[in-house]
Order: sequence, then C-alpha cells, then structure tokens
Amino acid sequence: MSDKFDVVVIGAGPAGYVAAIRAAQLGLKVAVVDAFVGKDGKQALGGTCLNVGCIPSKALLDSSKQFFNLSHNLPAHGITVENAKVDLATFIGRKDKIVKQFTGGIGQLFKANKVTPFFGKGKLLKGNQVEITDPEGKVSQISGTNVILASGSVPIELPFAKFDGTYIIDNAGALDLTEVPKRLGVIGAGVIGLELGSVWNRLGADVTVLEALPAFLAVADADVAKIAAKEFAKQGLKIKINAKASQVEIKDNEVHLSYTDKDGEQVLVVDKLLVAVGRRAYTEGLLADDVGVKLDERGRIVVDDHNHTGVDGVWAIGDAVRGPMLAHKGSEEGVAVAEWIAGKAGHIDFDTIPWVIYTEPEIAWAGKTEAQLKEAGIPYKVGTFPFAAIGRAVAMNEAVGQVKVLAHAETDRVLGVHMVGPGVSELIAEAVVTMEFKGSSEDLARIVHAHPTLSEAVHEAALAVDKRAIHKGN
Ligand code: FAD
Ligand code: NAD
Repeated sequence: MSDKFDVVVIGAGPAGYVAAIRAAQLGLKVAVVDAFVGKDGKQALGGTCLNVGCIPSKALLDSSKQFFNLSHNLPAHGITVENAKVDLATFIGRKDKIVKQFTGGIGQLFKANKVTPFFGKGKLLKGNQVEITDPEGKVSQISGTNVILASGSVPIELPFAKFDGTYIIDNAGALDLTEVPKRLGVIGAGVIGLELGSVWNRLGADVTVLEALPAFLAVADADVAKIAAKEFAKQGLKIKINAKASQVEIKDNEVHLSYTDKDGEQVLVVDKLLVAVGRRAYTEGLLADDVGVKLDERGRIVVDDHNHTGVDGVWAIGDAVRGPMLAHKGSEEGVAVAEWIAGKAGHIDFDTIPWVIYTEPEIAWAGKTEAQLKEAGIPYKVGTFPFAAIGRAVAMNEAVGQVKVLAHAETDRVLGVHMVGPGVSELIAEAVVTMEFKGSSEDLARIVHAHPTLSEAVHEAALAVDKRAIHKGN
C-alpha cells in the first residue's frame, strides 16, 4: 500500500515548492519529491534557483559590486581605499550561508503548511503512482490524485566542450571557484554569461565572452543592448559577437578554445571556460514509458494553456515546459495549477512577465520590444528619458542608461517598457502593474512620483511619449 496524497509534486524548485505550498493552503494533502543534494550532502530544497541560480548569483554579484565600487565609484565621491583585497573564502562562504538560509527556509515553510517532503528521484508511473528512489537506492511508492511535474532544467552541454568541473565549468562551477582565474573565457553572452562574467571581471579576471549570434543581447530592446554593450566594454568585459567556437583543447593547465569570427580563425587561451549557451528541460528518468506524457522537439513537457499534460491529473510547470526559463514564471504557474486543481480560477499573464539582468547597469524589461511591434505591424509611440537627467542617479554617480516606454499610437496603452540603468530591477514593477491594469502612458504620466528618485525616469519617459517631458528637450 502506497501513501496517497491529493497532490504529489516532483521537483522543489521555485515552480514546484510554490505549487506545493499553495495547494496545501487550499486544504489539499501534499507531498514533494526532490533529489537535489546540497554542498553538505543533505537534501537541499529550492531547486536550481536557490542552490545554484538566482540566489547565489545575486549574492556574488552584490559582493563583487561592493569591491568594484571601491575603485570605480567611491573615488568620485572623494573616498579612496587603498590595498582593498577580496578574501575568496569569505566571499564564497557568505553566498553558501545565504543559500543554506533560503533552502532551509523552504523546509520550514513545508512544515508550517504540512507539506510532506521526500528525498530522492521521482518517477511517474501509470495511474499517478510516483516511484521514489532515495540516495541509498531504496525504492518506495506514493500516489497522487494529481501529480505536478516540476523537474526544471539543466545547462546545455557543447559536444566539443563537455563540462569537466575543473577547466570547463557550468553555472554551479562558476559560483564556486576557489581562486579568481587570471583569464576566464565564456561561451554565450546571454544572461548567465553576462552576470557571472561580470562577477569575475569585477574581481580582476580578464574575461572574454564569445557570442555566436551577430547581434549582442538579441532578446532585449536594441537601444538597451547598445547602451549595455558600451558600459560592459568600459568595465573591461571583452564581448565578441559572431564568434563561433568549434574546439577545445586542455594543454599545460590552460584551455585553448578555437573559434572563428569576422577576422577568421582564432584561439582564445584561458584558465577556465564557462559554457553558458542556454538550458534544456530536465526529464531524465522522470517518466515511465507507458504514462503518455509527451515531450516536444526540444525535450520540454507538452502542456496546454492550463499547464495540463493531457494525461488525467498530470500537470507540468516551470523550466520543464514552454515559456521563459524564469523563477517567477514557474512560481506563478505553480500557484495557478494548485488553484485549478482546487477548483479555483488560476491565472497567469504571459504578456507581462518581467525580465531582469543583474549586471551593472541593470537591464529590465516587460512587454514588447520595438522590433516585435514593427514586425507585428502595431502602430506605436516612443518616449525615452536618460538617467543622466535624473538628480538621484547623478547624486549616486550612477547616471547611466535610460527608460523607454512604448505605447500604442492610437489607444496609448503601454505595450512595452525597456530599461537599462541603476535600480531598474525594482523600477520594472511599476511597468508590469501598469501593463497588467491595461494602463496608458497618460496614466503613468499622471501618477505622482517622489522627488528625487530613480522612478522619475519612468514618469518622464511616459511624459515623453506625448513630447512633454519636463527635464529634457522633446
Ligand atoms: P528548478 O529550479 O530547476 O528545480 C527543479 C528541481 O527538481 C531540482 O531541485 C531538481 O533536482 C529536481 N528534480 C528534477 N527531476 C527530478 C526527479 N525526477 N525527481 C526528483 N527531483 C527532481 N531566474 C530568475 O527569474 N531570476 C534570476 O535572477 C535567475 N538567475 C539565475 C542564475 C543562474 C546561474 C541560473 C542557472 C538560473 C537563473 N534563473 C533565474 C533561472 C531559474 O533558476 C529557473 O528559471 C528556475 O529555477 C526554474 O524553476 P523550476 O522549479 O522549474 O526548476
Ligand atoms: P541564454 O539563452 O540567456 O543565453 C545563451 C547565449 O548563448 C545566447 O546569446 C546564445 O545566442 C548564445 N549561444 C548559444 N550557443 C552558442 C555557441 N555555440 N557559441 C556561442 N554562443 C552561443 O542562456 P544562459 O545564459 O545559459 O541562461 C539560461 C537561462 O537561465 C536564461 O535564458 C534565463 O532564462 C535563465 N537565467 C535567468 C537569469 C535572470 O533572470 N537574471 C539569470 C541567469 C539565468
């Protein structure tokens, strides 16, 4: 006889653990199965995001920013600090403590909500049975009226540059280096390449990032990408676009990476190579052959608009399904699925999911880019405002970047907001709220924004849509 639950969740990342808590709040009997092993060899809840993703990367980004500011920002304030040093053991140790605090916190939340955690690898069998293989190899079974698959994603491996954990590393490796590499190579100028490349660049590594595409940060608005590229170059990040890596050789403790770019064949010699060319849905060992859950051509679990797999009582959420691979997207799917299971009206708006890249300057956007509006033939108006004219940004000595508001040319409804500059990871929330409430640039323009704050850039950009920004020529 197996234990019977209303809901069994496989995977305790931000998608799965949030689904479990919400389902428990709604009075359902919930179990979560997760196999992630922490640095201490024990179960570590929270998935990629808490263990080797969002949280540890932000911890290292913040520490490295403090160090970088000593030489790059504080002198402008009249403050000099000589012989500043980084103690890498403390730097990494602080990150580990934060990770432990948050992964442990999920355990406490489970306890408080009466969610039962199981440690091991879960496999969905026919009839919503879930087989659990614990770390010692012991097999048991539980079952759920509903099963939510939230198995997340893993880094894509390049066939010619397989992860070895020493020379060729993934995100987890780049979050745990024991010394600052003299030279760090990165394949992929995406979110991970830029964030983790920035961390080690700020600590003194000579960082070269190779990007296969002809455009830098093609997912972002073109103006944002242009401003960011200029700032990253000033910080010493060497980003090479149109660079196609083809071969890696490890010789004399060095990584020799062959690639071609506009100048022909090149070889980059580095001490460590971070491969960050995207992630893929992780479903290895998750599904018995006869359960009927389908995977698409990219290996993602196929779901409908309600995250249902088409198999009775089986749902899937987070990085393992279509849509952006973002923690908050997975969490919102988790909440919605729990509510649908409980017979309530779950809801997710995929059009207003914010993106944030935690570099310096920060990059954030929500909604459509100008290129997407052009392609869709949607008429639009543009308002921009630079942080150089924002008193608070100048006072902080961080007056780089701009806010851009895109509004429908006829209805004035806000269709996209694109930001690069100080604190935009927080400012983007105002844009999301406006778009979610179907607000117009006029709505934003009529809202009182505190002075002097960075949020005035959003206000002025909204005014600029109608050519009436106050603190710049229109
Ligand atoms: P995951 O977090 O991957 O969790 C899945 C869990 O399921 C894991 O614990 C895994 O061990 C477990 N699992 C898988 N299969 C099984 C099985 N068969 N049995 C038992 N357990 C199983 N996103 C943001 O929104 N903001 C950020 O700042 C951000 N920064 C990031 C930085 C880095 C370096 C990386 C790598 C990612 C970052 N992300 C960020 C992306 C974010 O981490 C993912 O979108 C998010 O973790 C996806 O959540 P998930 O619950 O779907 O999957
Ligand atoms: P990514 O998709 O953001 O970037 C990968 C980059 O690598 C792209 O620019 C792509 O063109 C390039 N690329 C692909 N193959 C290549 C090759 N052979 N040679 C050179 N370049 C190549 O992927 P990522 O940086 O690995 O991150 C994975 C995902 O994790 C992100 O897409 C995002 O969803 C999530 N993430 C989010 C955050 C955040 O929200 N701040 C931070 C980190 C990761």
